[in-house]
Amino acid sequence: MAIVSTAGVGYPRIGENREWKKLLEEFWGGKREEDSFRKEIRELRIRRLLRQKKSGVAWVPSGDFTLYDSVLDHVAAFDLVPERFRYLGKPDSLAVYFAMARGIEGAPACEMTKWFDTNYHYLVPELAGNPQPNLVFNPWLEAFNEAKHDAGLLTRPVIIGPYTLTRLAKGVSSAKFAEVVRAFVPVYIAVLEQLAAAGAEWIQIDEPSLVTDVPQEHLALLAEIYGTLKSTNPNLKLQLQTYFGAVEHPEAIFSLPVDAIGLDLVRGKDGNLNAIRTQGWPTGKKLGAGVVDGRGIWRVDPDHALSLLAELVTLVSADQLIVQPSCSLLHSPVSVNSEVSGDPVVRGSLAFADEKLEEIVALGEALEAQANGVGKGGELSPRLAVNREALAALRSHPARHRAAAQGTSEDHIAERAPFSVRHGLQQARFNLPLLPTTTIGSLPQTADIRKARLEWRRGKLDHADYRKLLEERTELWIRRQEEWGIDVLVHGEFERTDMVEHFAHLLDGYHFTTNGWVQSYGSRCVKPPVIYGDVMDRGAMTLEDTVYAQSLTDRPVKGMLTGPITMLAWSFYRDDISRKEIADQIARALDAEVLRLEAAGIGMIQVDEPALREIAPLKRREWPEYLEWSVNAFRRSVAGVRDETQIHTHMCYCDYHEIIDAVEAMDADVISLETSRSHGSLIHALEKQPYANGIGLGVYDIHSPVVPETETMLAVIRDSLAVVPADRMWVNPDCGLKTRGEPETIEALKRMAQAARQARAELT
Ligand code: GLN
Ligand code: ZN
Repeated sequence: MAIVSTAGVGYPRIGENREWKKLLEEFWGGKREEDSFRKEIRELRIRRLLRQKKSGVAWVPSGDFTLYDSVLDHVAAFDLVPERFRYLGKPDSLAVYFAMARGIEGAPACEMTKWFDTNYHYLVPELAGNPQPNLVFNPWLEAFNEAKHDAGLLTRPVIIGPYTLTRLAKGVSSAKFAEVVRAFVPVYIAVLEQLAAAGAEWIQIDEPSLVTDVPQEHLALLAEIYGTLKSTNPNLKLQLQTYFGAVEHPEAIFSLPVDAIGLDLVRGKDGNLNAIRTQGWPTGKKLGAGVVDGRGIWRVDPDHALSLLAELVTLVSADQLIVQPSCSLLHSPVSVNSEVSGDPVVRGSLAFADEKLEEIVALGEALEAQANGVGKGGELSPRLAVNREALAALRSHPARHRAAAQGTSEDHIAERAPFSVRHGLQQARFNLPLLPTTTIGSLPQTADIRKARLEWRRGKLDHADYRKLLEERTELWIRRQEEWGIDVLVHGEFERTDMVEHFAHLLDGYHFTTNGWVQSYGSRCVKPPVIYGDVMDRGAMTLEDTVYAQSLTDRPVKGMLTGPITMLAWSFYRDDISRKEIADQIARALDAEVLRLEAAGIGMIQVDEPALREIAPLKRREWPEYLEWSVNAFRRSVAGVRDETQIHTHMCYCDYHEIIDAVEAMDADVISLETSRSHGSLIHALEKQPYANGIGLGVYDIHSPVVPETETMLAVIRDSLAVVPADRMWVNPDCGLKTRGEPETIEALKRMAQAARQARAELT
């Protein structure tokens, strides 16, 4: 009988070969009937359970599977379907469910936003008014029964807790917060009762919001609701699961009336471990020890994990420990089985969801052996010994020691002249009109370009032919932009797959997985590149495309790069050095390209940072430190440029008002922002704190296929002129245009230029 327990906390939905995505898209596309869709999905769900069972982990979660998003599952089950979808059918119908997720004619989809600081997106519950949660069906019970009967597994159902669900919703004022949380209690009681009756022993209740800023006054509320949940189902064991950082107010959280608390001992290691050390762990409570990184892709370091667990044995005792991942494995690809290409040392150091579960089992066994007095003295089981060797090889990989060999020490980032001086010099150089027009960089990437790139990659299309196609497309669009009277042109980014992967292929230090897909939102999956070594410049990346485009026109063409923070945020990265150090390496590599562009006569260079806000720490007090190094990395990426060179940056969904000081500190000559969705709050922020440099306010939403009216854009410009002086205001769409069709983009940009001309005429 094992003393030490092991558990999974959540597992990828997408299937080893993204079967999930294919099934969903076939169903949405009308290529699969509902019956067959449901049958295939069910089989996928069972296979998924059996894979977890095979790992040997003691507790497999259930109910974490979903047809789109787990948060949305709660909205449906709790009868919180927004009014605009209700006519479509019952809350448990696929029609209603997918309409909430994807929108339909006349009823826009629920808003989607980032799940904490991950790249996963959830659908935001709409809880304005007096939400009356009501359990209309119980997906957790269905999942539990299915696992029991069809996979022979007694699972641990996973449900998102009422506190986090309310925190993530919109329309809940702080005055009503407690009332709304309380309104959820009866439905949770009902879910738990039904699960207990069906034979569930443990429930995992996810409360990741507990690692964000938790106001003091929420603590009593948490004690009250968990007290009620526990006392109404006294025989059911509750594990309160946190992740993505250290819990706030550990003294209060540790003493909540639950049977186990799951802590992230990777990202939240320092805070959580210190809290256990200083406060002690409550007797009789289990600790879900999240020692295997659920978000990273590296094998667990067995020496590190075992010494941590050994300390926990002394602090908590072995029979109270559950070895588990630091968070759901949703953020990890499924299995390294299909990793067959690329550097074998890097490949050999990877562990995806299946392997992470194996590691958990192996760590549990090692701990068990130690608790029983065997296996002391640093002897590792074969499964863990493999990890030790693989990671030793990775550590000594030459690619990890290049930056140090070059002696790039913490040097000074040269100051540029103040903006007013630069502005004068740049105006003299470019002679731009008031309200200059530009775009964010990418232009419609039509199917023929994507097909050509694929063929070129596969060696079926000559390099010369591929280049020719790219150049023709750039020329076509340079002529178009000139014709419509756009002032600052772009080459169109036709060569890019996406803004991170494209550059990753051109820099040193990156590995590309064969099948390392993770869910981003809905059926959409991404395959982030892996930063495994020192990121370094390998020579020109954008020079040829930019210089070619510039050779076609007298108007300025912007050079176009992805910034260091975005390159970091949308990759998997190494964990032996800090994110700051990685960002700094990327910045130096980008700077080399920036200086090459400048030397080749490119007068404007844009460095995009859409992810800057996104990876900001979950706790506000940690923001200043983060913003300091991230802003520094941006500044380093453009270090050494002349004052006459105009540096642009672009950010979307950046919640500008929250990072206004950091944006100022970036000191770009021009920033273009997404505003069409958050116009009001941006204008308000600029009213309170005017921005001193050039600023482009997105005048239309590129995410919608609707071609904006000239008048509508003109109204946005007029509005913005109240807070931005005309000589520093730019006119642009709110993001890149690569996903848009050609006809609509042509029409929209023509009208945008027209709106700018009209606004100029009004000014003079
Ligand atoms: N330059 C990029 C583009 O236009 C920026 C994309 C982004 O911010 N997400 O596609
Ligand atoms: Zn953008």
